[in-house]
Amino acid sequence: MIPVHVTAAKNTKSVVVLMTKIKSANDLNAIKEAARIITEGGLVAFPTETVYGLGADALNSEACKGIFEAKGRPRDNPLIIHIADMESLLNIVEVPGHKANKLMEKFWPGPLTLIFTKKTTVSDVISGGLSTVAVRMPDNEAALSLIKEAKTPIAAPSANISGRPSPTTAGHVKSDLDGKIDMILDGGNAVVGLESTIVDLSGTVPMLLRPGAITLEMLEDILGTVEIYPEIIFEDDKAPKAPGMKYRHYAPKAELTVVISKRKARISKYIRQKIGEIGGTCAILASQEDLEKYKNLKTYSLEPETLFAALRQIDKDGIKRVFVHGLDDTGINRAMMNRLRKASSGDIVDLDTVLFVCTGNTCRSPMAEAIWDSFKTGCLAKSCGIAVAPGSTLNENARKTLEIKGLSLQGFTSRQLTKNDVEEASVIFCMTKVHAEYVKQMTNDMWKVYTLSEYAGESETDISDPFGSELDIYEVCAKELETLISKIIENRNKKSL
Ligand code: AMP
Ligand code: MG
Repeated sequence: MIPVHVTAAKNTKSVVVLMTKIKSANDLNAIKEAARIITEGGLVAFPTETVYGLGADALNSEACKGIFEAKGRPRDNPLIIHIADMESLLNIVEVPGHKANKLMEKFWPGPLTLIFTKKTTVSDVISGGLSTVAVRMPDNEAALSLIKEAKTPIAAPSANISGRPSPTTAGHVKSDLDGKIDMILDGGNAVVGLESTIVDLSGTVPMLLRPGAITLEMLEDILGTVEIYPEIIFEDDKAPKAPGMKYRHYAPKAELTVVISKRKARISKYIRQKIGEIGGTCAILASQEDLEKYKNLKTYSLEPETLFAALRQIDKDGIKRVFVHGLDDTGINRAMMNRLRKASSGDIVDLDTVLFVCTGNTCRSPMAEAIWDSFKTGCLAKSCGIAVAPGSTLNENARKTLEIKGLSLQGFTSRQLTKNDVEEASVIFCMTKVHAEYVKQMTNDMWKVYTLSEYAGESETDISDPFGSELDIYEVCAKELETLISKIIENRNKKSL
């Protein structure tokens, strides 16, 4: 930020103080002053329709470095450049393709960020060393006039301390960055409340890097198939496509658990039971519709516009543990659940179990159960057989095969499949078509019964029974199970987690 020289009193030396002014974003003079600060290399937080941004002159790399310092933001987490007209776009990026033009026409100004090949005018400070740069045109009058008045594109990430929930009011910005930035333009509550959708069009299939208010469904309407970049919930040293994804985000100080299930009643039963056990300073974050199930408990409403405000309020209220009543990933819910899964750092409880079925529940299905659980999806596996010999248990070669993989099934005994097992499971993976046909006879919900290979999207082949074979055949079988299971989990992550 730019130091301000203040003469304290007559004959005393001027002192350097760091002050953050807050002025109304409706005041044209305030906008002009903010624009001057930007052109002089300072930092201004300003309202946008998504969340408040912390802006600096995008063509001044020294000023942009200040953003990283003020936020405590890792240097490899690139910034989004905000523009107010299409001419500015061509000063910073190579000519956009057909798909980008269609999206910009439809959604700009608006909560959509696109990734472009950058020109050399854009410094590596902004792009975190990448050859691409993220750009958007915000749909907020104050933001647009600030950019126009400053006559330069403005680089701006969210105006919060790194890792904290994004700010949706000037007050949130002040509580994180007071004294670290030159000015805050107060434009009231951000109307969208969630950061922009980010789309990368550089590959053959468009890729959704971050979900937002421009939903997957809206993008697919225009682009056809859109791939979803897998969510990175844990910190990870791989270089992800949108580098900011690898950092813990949006997190309140409270411990946050996301609970999901296809059956809503299961979620509320689980959360009520947990809160009963823990007691004390717990709260629930649930949509208006789901809140009804939590009468007499401390609740916060889960809505896109107020999600970040709620996370900040939860801390202010001294809540130590929050349970999120999970929503399905449709429309804008996908964006909310994305932020919440990240805020949970992977503490996601999936109440739906998967069930593996084979014949005797001694070889294939128990190995599949152990392999599934080793992926730690939060969704537990069970296994059963359709013709279990009384008293049978894990086959010795199956046990050894798991042991070689560092896996075990403690206290395992083989179990005969019951109607209740079929009822309870959210999806059932059978080793062969014959098993699948058998299980389908036991339920009206035939849609949840698959062969393992079918669900993995492979040509439908049976997993042959290694029973009675040497160890190496068991190992081949386990390898086959692992390949199919990892494929299912990968697809599942892309679809919903
Ligand atoms: P923020 O404005 O704080 O939401 O951060 C901007 C986010 O945009 C970063 O965390 C990145 O994930 C993403 N981003 C910025 N530039 C790029 C880029 N060149 N390629 C992919 N993602 C980007
Ligand atoms: Mg951010």
